[in-house]
Amino acid sequence: MQIHPISCGLGYAFLIESEGGLVLVDCGSPHQEKKVLAAMDALGRHDLKLIWITHAHYDHYGSAAALHAQTGVPIGVHPADSEALHAGRSDLGIVRGVGHLFPLGLGIAKVFVPLPPVKPEVLLEDGASLMDYGLAAQVFHTPGHTPGHSSLWLEDGTLIIGDLIGQKKRACRQTLLATDWQALEESLARMQALKPCRVYSGHSPRAIPREEFCNL
Ligand SMILES: [Zn+2]
Repeated sequence: MQIHPISCGLGYAFLIESEGGLVLVDCGSPHQEKKVLAAMDALGRHDLKLIWITHAHYDHYGSAAALHAQTGVPIGVHPADSEALHAGRSDLGIVRGVGHLFPLGLGIAKVFVPLPPVKPEVLLEDGASLMDYGLAAQVFHTPGHTPGHSSLWLEDGTLIIGDLIGQKKRACRQTLLATDWQALEESLARMQALKPCRVYSGHSPRAIPREEFCNL
């Protein structure tokens, strides 16, 4: 199993390559679909089975509609964020600190680069397996940043965690955006208890080692 981070505008997509096919986690801002398609071309593989979205934010599902239109591959998300994708919403919740700039920035971004709505066909709850899509991985519902925010636990001990945490040079706690700050803390504690061997967050290609993640 290999993970290929792809820079997609404001966020990162993660193309997971395994014997069973390809699964894409997130797809960045709008108009980033060519980068994902180019990454598949570079691998010489086009057996994409699922586009799974960690949460309903502009910079995580912005290119989902275009990728779905071009590949026919279904979009998966947790039921609690499904309606937001279908409506083309990106709810920011209760902002803190410089997070207060985000609603303004998002409003401007959506005027110039609208967020295309997309209908998720695959609703994945806590504990759902991705074996139907060729990948030995399990979905964990990790609410807080958004109501349906979820993380993906891979067979090799890798965790892909969306925006449950932040990352600059090093990993940091999510301090800017949440719809439920208490739930966010509980979700992080639950993921730390898994003691993953490495963690990918939504805005960096860097794999966070276990010790750094567990001591946030
Ligand atoms: Zn987010």
